[in-house]
Amino acid sequence: MRSIVLVAILLLASASPIMGNSTAQQPDIVQEHWYHSYLTLTTDVQSWAEDYPDIVKLTVAGQTELGRNLWVVQISDWSNTQNTKPDGTPKEIVYIDGGHHGNEHLGTELAFLTAEYYIEGWAAGEQEVLDVLTTTELHILIMLNADGNDIDTRWNINQVDLNRNYDHYWNTCETTQPGSSAFSESETLANSNYMNTMVSDADLYVTMHTGVWIMLYPWGKWPDQPSDWELFHGIRDEVHTNISEIPIQNANQGLYPNCGTSRDYGYGVMGFPTFTFETDDEQWLLGTTEPLSDRLGEELDVMKYLIDNVWYWRARLSIEEITIDDDVVNFDIVNDGRATTRNATLQYLNEETDEILWQSDNFTVNTTSRISVSTNGFDYDNGVWRLSYQKRIINSAQWVNETVNESLVSIIKVEDDGFLLGYGLFNPLSLIMALCVVAILKPELSEIEISE
Ligand SMILES: [Zn+2]
Repeated sequence: MRSIVLVAILLLASASPIMGNSTAQQPDIVQEHWYHSYLTLTTDVQSWAEDYPDIVKLTVAGQTELGRNLWVVQISDWSNTQNTKPDGTPKEIVYIDGGHHGNEHLGTELAFLTAEYYIEGWAAGEQEVLDVLTTTELHILIMLNADGNDIDTRWNINQVDLNRNYDHYWNTCETTQPGSSAFSESETLANSNYMNTMVSDADLYVTMHTGVWIMLYPWGKWPDQPSDWELFHGIRDEVHTNISEIPIQNANQGLYPNCGTSRDYGYGVMGFPTFTFETDDEQWLLGTTEPLSDRLGEELDVMKYLIDNVWYWRARLSIEEITIDDDVVNFDIVNDGRATTRNATLQYLNEETDEILWQSDNFTVNTTSRISVSTNGFDYDNGVWRLSYQKRIINSAQWVNETVNESLVSIIKVEDDGFLLGYGLFNPLSLIMALCVVAILKPELSEIEISE
């Protein structure tokens, strides 16, 4: 019924000569006040893909139980055929979904507005947006529970709470309607498949809901702070200082104990930093009198902060200098990221076989800090250096192997005397210097000879 009403409005608006819009996208007046249905969302995302092919790719993550498409809007500057940043390194990846609960329209609209902000900002040539889209991929699944949205219900068509159906401590807490098993529903299975295949490198995952005005980080399952509490607390403090007073808490304490959620799955299984973004508590309505972009302006500012700074939401190690003294390797290492990493190593590999010839003792580098490490046992040549570490502390966090850029590394070989002598004999520069010394000394030698 709701869809039919919205279609009628859409047709009327499109027919109006005042709305002379060349595209099929919903006119702003409709977008700003009427929550999306599956039909109007489909119209809008298809228009984006048609109008902005340089930055918008539209794909489907799967289908709902009733066969509706789970549209994912992929937003980035796709003009670089290698799909890297201008410096050749991989782009950062952000994953966002909305609409797990079909009656929580403002959460779905925040996902839509986030996509719209970056698409329209790019079209308008806004520098901040251009910078983000040349370095970052945004993947936004705006409406996960399209079947529930259509009949304005929390549940999917099988009366399952999709946000209790994920395979992370599924059905191990007091909960209602979690489904017959983890991922029993096509919507959650498709969402997890997308996470595992398309955005497994993501350094931010935000899932959007409505209820209480709050942002929740893991865990829902336990009252304990997550392993990466420094990262979450750092974000909380910055948001509070600069952007919004929105409460930001561990989900279990901030809301109530919950399990099998996409947030806990995203962190516990995928290793992403995850937030549930709950916009204010309005539910059950079809639209809003205040324009959505005003109503969700503060929430969008928080999203811009999280997206624009995604580079920082992991450990980011770099070596300042490597010094080799006999068989001892000393190095200084900096973490520019906002997450701590443990069990990191510096490794020396055979360039051809990738065999690890030597590695340092394991070390920990706290968020935004510098440490020095010494490990002995080094006696190798002709290899390459790399750093091996996890992006965050949580066990599921992705491991990265980053080649140490040789041009940034100054390797000072401090040799023993015997080796220096041998080295000097065969070094062309030493040979030239020795000849010069002979040349300078020669007249004196001649004089001595004469004086005899
Ligand atoms: Zn919800």
